[in-house]
Order: sequence, then structure tokens, then C-alpha cells
Amino acid sequence: MSSPLSTANQASNQPYVGRFAPSPSGALHFGSLVTALASYIHARQHQGKWLVRIEDIDPPREQAGAADDILRTLDAYGLHWDSEVFYQSQQSERYRAILQTLLKCKQAYYCTCTRAQIKAHGGIYQGHCKTLARTPENAAIRVINNVGHYRFNDIFQGTVSCQQALAAEDFTVLRKDGLFAYQLAVVADDIEQNISHIIRGADLLEPTARQLSFYQILAQPAPLFGHVPLVVTEQGYKLSKQNKAPAIDQKRPQPSIIAALKFLGQTPPSDLVEQDVDTIIDWAVSQVNFTKMPKQPEIVLSVFE
Ligand code: GLU
Ligand code: ZN
Repeated sequence: MSSPLSTANQASNQPYVGRFAPSPSGALHFGSLVTALASYIHARQHQGKWLVRIEDIDPPREQAGAADDILRTLDAYGLHWDSEVFYQSQQSERYRAILQTLLKCKQAYYCTCTRAQIKAHGGIYQGHCKTLARTPENAAIRVINNVGHYRFNDIFQGTVSCQQALAAEDFTVLRKDGLFAYQLAVVADDIEQNISHIIRGADLLEPTARQLSFYQILAQPAPLFGHVPLVVTEQGYKLSKQNKAPAIDQKRPQPSIIAALKFLGQTPPSDLVEQDVDTIIDWAVSQVNFTKMPKQPEIVLSVFE
């Protein structure tokens, strides 16, 4: 077993395959546009494929019609994906098989602890149920995290250190309510789709450490990760449907694309906004320089408006 300090086994020499993986909890807003655009540009600059995966494994948080609306918006914004759209809701069998294998190999166990109990023990899960042979009823499944990667090399942010205790936690792969956990689905599908580069928002920096551990537990090479600054509100919240981030305009994409390019630290010529969408995206692919992108993990929207 490698030390948690070591760099994960990340495959940088496989063909470039990137992805954008929205959850269909609402329409695309400016924050998700920044992420989609950055991953699209990065993939195209590396002659890579760019896939779209709809992360629809959490029905209570989904909004009817949101997945189709997201796809229409991406199209209107000139962000055209390769291959068929991949839906997590169609992958249950594979997720279940992974859970069964983990349980069979004693790499995972049932846990009945409540959030309140974990909080009472300092907020970090201490492996309470690991040796208690819990049964599946009303239980989550946690993976035994004997890897605990907490540092990794981010394409944009350089060396990122996450909270070590949190990164070493046995994390949930099946939720207590019976839904597949994000960590399970995201890693299972990034492996399934041969994703080599994951460009996404800096709100996912902490989960990256767990995901790197999970790749190692599953004995799979990990992709490379690059996190772009997160668009936050004045109050410090991530733009989201919950805090009423407005949907971006499907009919007139140009101003939002230009604004997103500026957010990414680029300086598009002032008349570019008058061009058609494909011209703007072509400009972006040929001109965007990611070294100009701000390094801080969060940027307040109004700062650059
Ligand atoms: N579906 C996740 C989200 O919308 C993103 C997952 C990922 O990029 O790994 O926040
Ligand atoms: Zn427990």
C-alpha cells in the first residue's frame, strides 16, 4: 500500500477523454456554464473527446425536464458533445455489482449510524460499524478507506491538500435511503467511460481526495483532475438552483459565453460578442490560456460583473 502522501497512480498517457457531468436539479446557470466551457475548451485544446453524462441518481433533487433543458442549452452554446449522452439512472446494475464485490471482498460494510451520531463523535466517521456485522436494513454501505489520499496534483491549482481525517474516512457508497452515493456513481462511470481528464468546479476539491482513494481501492488508474474557480454569491454560496441562480439565456448565448471567458481570466476582443456562437467557441478553443485563470477556489460573481 502506498503512503497517503504519495501521488495517486494517475494515468496521463491515455487518450484524452473529458466530460461534463451535470445533475439535472435545474437549468444550467452561470456557474455550470463556466465549468462546462472550461472542460470543453480543455478537451478540444488536447484534441480530446468531450462527453456529457447526466447524473440523475437522486430523484428527490431532480426537476422534471431539466436534463433535456441542459442538453438544449449546451447545444445552443456551441458545446457539442461526442458519443451518446450517458445517463446514470441506467447504470444501476453495474453500481450494484460493484457494491456486491466490495462487500464480498470485505472492502465495504453496512453502517446504521445517523448523521447526529457521527456529528456527536466530531463529525468524522470513525468506523463505528466496521466490526459490528450490521444487516442491510436501513443501512448505508461504507467502503473501507485504507488508502486515505489527501494530497494530489491539480492541473490548475498545483498541489492540493485536503483535510486529512476527512480524506481517510470510510465513505458512503450506498446511502441509507437506498440511493447510490455520488462517490460510487462518479468513479464507476469515469472508469466505465475511460475518462482521462476531469475538469470541474472547485467545490469538488475535497471529494477528489476520496475519489483518488476509491480508484486505488478498485485497483484502477485515476484520471487527472483540474478544478476551476467556483462562482459564488456575495454571501459566499455556490450558485445553485436553491439560491435562485438564474438560468442562462438559451436564445442569446453570446453575452454569457463572453462573461464566462472573462471569469476564466481571458480577455476576448470586445466585438467577439457580436459573432455567432461557433465563432466564439472557436476563438475560445484557439485562444484560451489556462495559466491566466485565477487560482483562488472561489470568486464572487459581482466582482467581475
Ligand atoms: N454532478 C455533479 C454536480 O453537478 C458533478 C460531478 C463531477 O463533476 O464530478 O455537481
Ligand atoms: Zn456506522
